[in-house]
Amino acid sequence: MIAQKIKQAIRDIPDFPKAGIVFKDITPILKDAELCVGITDAFVEQLKDKHIDAVAGVESRGFLFGLTLANKLGVPFVPVRKAGKLPYTVKQKVYDLEYGTATIELHTDAFEPGARILIHDDLLATGGTVSAASELIQEMGGEVVGFTFVVGLGFLNGRERIAPVSDNIIVLAE
Ligand code: 5GP
Repeated sequence: MIAQKIKQAIRDIPDFPKAGIVFKDITPILKDAELCVGITDAFVEQLKDKHIDAVAGVESRGFLFGLTLANKLGVPFVPVRKAGKLPYTVKQKVYDLEYGTATIELHTDAFEPGARILIHDDLLATGGTVSAASELIQEMGGEVVGFTFVVGLGFLNGRERIAPVSDNIIVLAE
């Protein structure tokens, strides 16, 4: 089962990036080509009939399976990046972190108004990052029609936070 394989591959790194945090390191997944294909296929299987126009992947680990997923669905991939990384004209969203704020950006021509956008990231924790991405997409006239994650940290209640945007939430391993 894909959930079991993902859980076995993920490596827990204590005190990264700072003391008290146990970081879920997904890089061992990337060394397993068969598992990577399985992850993409598992998403596609659940998204076939959702009429998605583009996949928006969140920097940086959301680029990994966001692109393979978009390719397999046969739709564009658009990168959601941290401030100052995208070269063309951008629209940005500032959002709150536990301490301070962060800014994400999208190219102004990332998609057409009315486009049905799927948001992808590697991991769902509090849902703060993808909530900010969904607000930015909506402000640009896109419709957020779902979220996909390889891993979810259930105890942080990210699902509850993003469910009002779309209840089409796929978390492969929780
Ligand atoms: P959230 O905004 O849901 O609280 O945090 C999720 C974001 O932080 C994602 O972009 C994810 O890549 C990153 N993140 C937070 N904790 C971890 C972790 O333990 N492992 C990985 N791979 N990413 C994390």
